[in-house]
This record gives sequence, structure tokens and C-alpha cells, in this order.
Amino acid sequence: MRAWVVGSTAPVDSGPLVRVEREPPEPAAGQVRVRITCCGVCRTDLHLVEGDLLPRRPGVTPGHEIVGVVDALGPGTSRFAVGERIGVAWLAHTDGSCRYCRRGDENLCVAPLFTGWDVDGGYADACVVDEAYAYRLPESLADEAAAPLLCAGIIGYRALQAAAVPPGGRLGIYGFGGSAHLTAQVALAQGLRVHVLTRGAHNQALATELGADSVGGPTEAPPEPLDSAILFAPAGELVPVALRALDRGGTLAVAGIWLSPIPALDYAAELFEERRLRSVTANTRRDGEEFLLLAERLGVRATTTAYSMDDAPQALADLAHGRFGGAAVLVNATVH
Ligand SMILES: [Zn+2]
Ligand SMILES: [Zn+2]
Repeated sequence: MRAWVVGSTAPVDSGPLVRVEREPPEPAAGQVRVRITCCGVCRTDLHLVEGDLLPRRPGVTPGHEIVGVVDALGPGTSRFAVGERIGVAWLAHTDGSCRYCRRGDENLCVAPLFTGWDVDGGYADACVVDEAYAYRLPESLADEAAAPLLCAGIIGYRALQAAAVPPGGRLGIYGFGGSAHLTAQVALAQGLRVHVLTRGAHNQALATELGADSVGGPTEAPPEPLDSAILFAPAGELVPVALRALDRGGTLAVAGIWLSPIPALDYAAELFEERRLRSVTANTRRDGEEFLLLAERLGVRATTTAYSMDDAPQALADLAHGRFGGAAVLVNATVH
């Protein structure tokens, strides 16, 4: 099979991804093998190939928004049948025994494994996954539409929960890429007022098309104070901007795995009056199951730009340079 691997980390335009030919992986006990039809391109993949996130092992295959068909079963598996379509997401394994796992916060596990970081991911013809960490996918969604839900969608959903927007409340969304455009759909369907603050003509147009109550630039003040905000852009300088836009008692949730440095905060203007600042770290499987159910029920639809699996470096470069709106998806033509 063919697979893309991170050669040595470098700016995306200088070619950090390398194509290799290797034997398909054999599923171990508790694992199934997936013949990959699509893999979404997440900003985390870009942070990984560029070295903002250090690869946890050499030559790892990125990609953690994987849709494919089960084509081999490891010993002791029972959840899926050969031929069944499943999804593979970021959380690949947890120890199940640390204090965080035991209290239900497996996203905070002290010994987690992540798809496309610790274990080989979806920029390839096939991968293996622990069956307990895979997802059934809503039948109404085509492969390409389902892929971005698996990280962008799930993490955005967790960030929306973390932002604790009151019913009917006012939500600010800073940055409007793959994750934000899915989260905005959930928020709007739930009756929230949504103000999008983003750069990029593609992103602003998509926000308008999806029905945002207002759309402006990232440092503009929204038209009304916000009960809650989510920062999707990996831009620490927007933390004080978003905090200033919050009403008293408001919450800012930072959704990304990586953020550029946050400037010094002005306590009186940006944190006092019980404004809260919190991060979002990975997700639990329950977040994933809840979001996929909700996405089907609310008709959440990913806006996607398809690339051939052969063009993975181009897709990452286009993400880095903001050349498309919504989410990029690698389509593996050889297995369709
Ligand atoms: Zn744990
Ligand atoms: Zn991701």
C-alpha cells in the first residue's frame, strides 16, 4: 500500500511529507483494519508536519479524520463486520485506569495514543484501529462529507460545550475554518445568536452563507456583548481581543491543540467581572458519539474541497495559505 509519512519536519512548502510503499498493517488483538476511502485534513496535521507539534515517532503517517471500510478483523474483535463503513478519529487509545479515565475524562488521560501522531493515520491506503475507539457513521452522509466531522466536528462540539452558552445566548466564533463552520451550524440550529469574527474572504462568505447573525474581521468588536466565545484560530493575540468582547461572567474557550503566544492580559478589562478563559483538550468517545448523532439530527453539513490522496502536500499547503473555505478532504481514488 502507499502511505504519506512525515520525513523531517519543515515548512509545508518545502516538502516535509514523503510517499512510501509498505505492507498493509495487520490488525492486532482488538483491532480492525480499515481500507481508507477518505481522510480529512486537519490543522493539527499542519502543526505536525511543520514541527509546531513534535512527531512522537519518526515517519508517522498523519491524518485522523478517516472514513473507510473494515477489511480485516484482529483476534477477539466483535463490534464490526468486514465490509462495514466506520470512522477513525484523533483519540486512538487511553489506559482506562488513570484517575482521569476513571472519572470519565478520558480526554485528559495521562497515557493516551493519538491517531496520526502516535499511531499511523489516514494519509494512506489502509490503517488499523482499536475497535473500541472507532465510530459508526450516519448513513445519510457520504464519505467525503463525514470525514471532517471526525475531528473538526467533534472538537468543535466539545468547545461549544466548554463555552457554556446559555440558551438563546450570544456566541462569538473567532476563526472560521473546518471546525468552526461545523460548530456554527450546531449553534445556529440550537437557537443561539452567532457572531463570526474571521479574516479571509472564503471564510467570511461561508459564515454569511450558513446564516451567521453577523460577520466581521477578527479584531472588530461584535455588534453586541458575547455570553461566550470560541477561539478556533491558532492566534494567541486574539485571546485578549475575545475576552474584551465578552459580557460580564462570559466564557472564552480555546479550541486548538496549539496556540501562538498569548500577550499579557489586562486584568481589569479582560478578566475581571468573572470572565473565564479555558482550553479544550482532545475529546472523549462520548463527545464523538453525541456529536455524530446531533450532526445527523440537525443536518450539519461539511463544506469540503476534495483533493486526491496523491495531492496531500498540496492540500496541506492550501490549508496553510488559506486557499479554500471549509474543510479539505483527501479522496483515495484507488479504493473506490
Ligand atoms: Zn487514562
Ligand atoms: Zn484534528
